[in-house]
Amino acid sequence: MVLVVFIGHHLTIYRIMLVSIRDRGLCPCPRCRIPMERVPDMGMVRDMRQRMTLARIDDNATRHKVETARNLIYNKFYAVDNDGVEAMLKDESLVPSSVSACRLA
Ligand SMILES: [Zn+2]
Repeated sequence: MVLVVFIGHHLTIYRIMLVSIRDRGLCPCPRCRIPMERVPDMGMVRDMRQRMTLARIDDNATRHKVETARNLIYNKFYAVDNDGVEAMLKDESLVPSSVSACRLA
C-alpha cells in the first residue's frame, strides 16, 4: 500500500479513507460500495451511475454496524474474524475501527 501524505486539510480525509477500507473485502473502492464482480465494468455508463448510487456514506446504519462489531470484539471478546463480526462488516469492506479526526498542523 502506498500512503500519500498531503499537507493541510486533505491529510485527515485521505488517511481516514485509506484505513477505513478492509483488505480483501467484497467492495474494493474507498469511495463507493461497488462489488468486486462489477469492477471489470469500470468506466462504462452503468459504472459511472453506480459511483453515485453506491457512494460510501457515513450514515447511522454504517456506524451501527461498526459499533456493534466493536462491541462484540472489545466487550464480548469475540475474535475479529468471528462469523458474526464478518457478517456485519465484510459485505461493505468495513473495518471495526473508530476514527477521530484531529488537526495535525
Ligand atoms: Zn468507487
